[in-house]
Amino acid sequence: MSAESKYPTPEEFLIKVPLYEKVAYSDEDLEEGSKIRFFSETFDSYCPSCNTHSIFEPVGGYKHYSYYSSDTWLNADFFDITVRCTRNKSHKLVFKFHVEEQSIQKIGQIPSIADLNLFDVKKYSKVLSKHYFQEFTKAIGLASHGVGVGSFVYLRRIFEFLIEESHLCAKEKSTWDDEVYIRARMNEKIELLCEELPRFLVDNKSIYSILSKGIHELSEQECLAAFPAMKVGIEIILDEKLEIMKRERKLQEAQKAIASLSSSV
Ligand SMILES: [Zn+2]
Repeated sequence: MSAESKYPTPEEFLIKVPLYEKVAYSDEDLEEGSKIRFFSETFDSYCPSCNTHSIFEPVGGYKHYSYYSSDTWLNADFFDITVRCTRNKSHKLVFKFHVEEQSIQKIGQIPSIADLNLFDVKKYSKVLSKHYFQEFTKAIGLASHGVGVGSFVYLRRIFEFLIEESHLCAKEKSTWDDEVYIRARMNEKIELLCEELPRFLVDNKSIYSILSKGIHELSEQECLAAFPAMKVGIEIILDEKLEIMKRERKLQEAQKAIASLSSSV
């Protein structure tokens, strides 16, 4: 929902609002419903067929909603909105709506909300195993459907995986004392692993206590409110891993290029 309005914007209704969520319009705000029914805007969204962001435009174009009287849409039982990718007009997003009294409910869409929203986290599949990447996307999917505590459980599992991954690296070192590590509490473990773990995580150890507190003490709403900050925390850790990976690849390529140069000169 946008900050200024209690109603989702037409674009939000298409891309972000979960299926079956009923939006009821008051008598004085019927025009807001009209903006959905006679959708005539262009907007930016991920296009699964292009596999990148694109601009979408309505197909079959209605006139601007202001052309219709604000209660015209109440006569429809069901309506569809189809938009197409301006890069390739055969790429379509289709949404189906149900009108009941003065409310509008989205009852179907293809591609799914998850497909439209997960593009921006796809890059993390390079630094997470398939299993944990799926759990990460599951956390995002659950949060977008209003499931707060459940989404926290998945984030916590990813967090624990990142710690364990570093632990396995640290164990290789001859100076490492695993007895101490096993007995340590989570924040002490993070200290012990400070050389292996991304700096951000070591500096923000509290992220784990918030994640584990969520499961036992926070309400659904509190978890949902804290979700974006927790997700960004994990993304920063993953960004750091991506950076390292990128740098290593560049170094290797440079070494190879220099080696082939010196053998040919
Ligand atoms: Zn496209």
